[in-house]
Amino acid sequence: CGIVGVVGKSARDLILNGLTNLEYRGYDSAGMYLNDLAGHEYLVKAVGRISNLKEKLTPEQQGLVGIGHTRWATHGKPTVDNAHPHFDETKRFYLVHNGVIENYLELKEKYLQGVTFKSETDTEVVVQLISKLARENNLDGFSAFKKALKLVKGSYAFLLVDNTQPDHVYIAKNKSPMMLGLGNGFNIIASDAISVLDQTKTFVDLQDGDVGDITKDGYTIENLDGEKVTREPHVLDIDP
Ligand code: GLU
Repeated sequence: CGIVGVVGKSARDLILNGLTNLEYRGYDSAGMYLNDLAGHEYLVKAVGRISNLKEKLTPEQQGLVGIGHTRWATHGKPTVDNAHPHFDETKRFYLVHNGVIENYLELKEKYLQGVTFKSETDTEVVVQLISKLARENNLDGFSAFKKALKLVKGSYAFLLVDNTQPDHVYIAKNKSPMMLGLGNGFNIIASDAISVLDQTKTFVDLQDGDVGDITKDGYTIENLDGEKVTREPHVLDIDP
């Protein structure tokens, strides 16, 4: 399973490339969300190989921001509905996730009574929770994400897009791998550095408990208590 997120560059091709390079990690389905920052968004998912996802994508489905995922099913069968990205009932938030949410049933019962679910995954509970917290407390996406993360227990590499502020990708890591690659006028997030080495050699190692706000020109990282943390980039001196 793997994740790839892009801000500020041809997201569709970079995601397809990155996910293909992450194939060694194993997966049963794949999907991506794209936003062209001009009012169009696309969600495409497929069971099986990444080539199946590629075939489903039409030429106009492009984005300057996007998040992609290969899934190794832990909660719910490998179906299109269970493939990531998952979204909330209002279709504002899109989330990909590698890992396992341990308290998803508890969260569903406690906070999400009456919400209509589209999948059987633990992941969908998190995106519905983010949306619920945003609506109830009138929060921006990043604040709602951080509030939700305080309630979530488990392992995760999360990439989140809020389509009311689509030029950001919000990230969080706990016990699942995730790296931030820095480009010139774009940034890219992936499960490992090797999978995106054709795009950049400058990386930020994210630590467990890190939560970040990534734009095309910069990034901020905080811990779960909202305190800023410094994560210095380093250059990986190897050839792709
Ligand atoms: N637990 C999630 C699911 O079953 C994510 C699995 C993964 O890491 O790919 O959908």
